[in-house]
Amino acid sequence: MEQIQALRVIRKGEVQHPSVCYGKEDEIMKRVYNFSAGPAVLPEEVLREIADEMLDYRGTGMSVMEMSHRSKPFDEIIQTAEKDFRELLKVPDNYKVLFLQGGAHLQFSAVPMNLMKNRVADYIVTGQWAKRAYEEAKKYGTANKIASSEDRTYSYIPDCSDLPVSENADYVYICENNTIYGTRFQTLPDTKGKDLVADVSSCFLSEPADVSKYAVMYGGVQKNIGPAGMVIAVVREDLITDDVLPGTPTIMKYKTQADAGSLYNTPNCFCIYTCGKVFQWLKRMGGLEVMKQKNEAKAAILYRYLDSSTLFKGTVRKEDRSLMNVPFVTGEKELDAKFVKEADAAGLVGLKGHRSVGGMRASIYNAMPKEGVEALVTFMKKFEEENK
Ligand SMILES: *Cc1c(COP(=O)(O)O)cnc(C)c1O
Repeated sequence: MEQIQALRVIRKGEVQHPSVCYGKEDEIMKRVYNFSAGPAVLPEEVLREIADEMLDYRGTGMSVMEMSHRSKPFDEIIQTAEKDFRELLKVPDNYKVLFLQGGAHLQFSAVPMNLMKNRVADYIVTGQWAKRAYEEAKKYGTANKIASSEDRTYSYIPDCSDLPVSENADYVYICENNTIYGTRFQTLPDTKGKDLVADVSSCFLSEPADVSKYAVMYGGVQKNIGPAGMVIAVVREDLITDDVLPGTPTIMKYKTQADAGSLYNTPNCFCIYTCGKVFQWLKRMGGLEVMKQKNEAKAAILYRYLDSSTLFKGTVRKEDRSLMNVPFVTGEKELDAKFVKEADAAGLVGLKGHRSVGGMRASIYNAMPKEGVEALVTFMKKFEEENK
């Protein structure tokens, strides 16, 4: 196979830290196109800024990693991060923005603990993450599975226009973009007046969203925003009360975190700092409307090719396709494995599908440049030619 090199070699003089030195001759480092589902690609600009500030953050003589979360410079970091996040997503004033630890998984229990006043909640199960949330909620009350796409390996989004929403449901729960299966809700379900809770981990800030349609919107940042170790939860204020389920840990009460400005205990300071830089990058890029256009254009390149290929095919019903996670298969396990291996060697990494689905998956989050998707399609075309 003719070598396609997607590795981008960074040479001396292009970076300010030649102490990070490996590779040969004037090569300082190599950057691959990283299609991992999460932790995932971050904007190169952001990584460079962080590298520049690593030893001395803006004259403090220390790294943000070494800094008190109660210090003035950190206060400015967290305030600015929240302000920029609110601006990007146009978060209404009656919503709190919380920076929380424990990943999306902790929210699977925090949501029922904080919201299940009647101990009834309805779940739309469109994949493994929604299913985990649903199973967790059962511990706290009656969780009803009111729709599911499990019958066809979660390859579509069920019709949610007239669901059997429970009369006394405290909320209706969805996972808006299904990272593993590559589906997404194109329109939000009709909750018949009930509060909507959404896990948006893998589509967070990929396009504008009308926050007012959600009671709680939360996501782990390690997919489309920053490094692992934090969730951002956007919670409507009237839901932030002391009226939580008995036994709810203090730290899991939204009110604790809201009252303390996400600083009840030590937060993931470095993650907040990095996310803040990503928010600034998103603003420089032109905001979420522009990101949506870019993401649609990138996804179109890949889907258009998949629809024309005789070797590869997408696994998701067309109208439910995700803009962020694109699963595909050849139909032959050995060929899939060969593809993943050869792509990896060419600098297109992280393409192996989730262990529960197999095949391939390209995650093309905000920070994946169009050139990365083009390089992937070029590589796929070559592979198709050679493996007819
Ligand atoms: C990755 C992912 C999760 C799990 O996140 P953790 O931070 O590992 O708990 C949950 N939901 C969605 C949609 C995800 O993509």
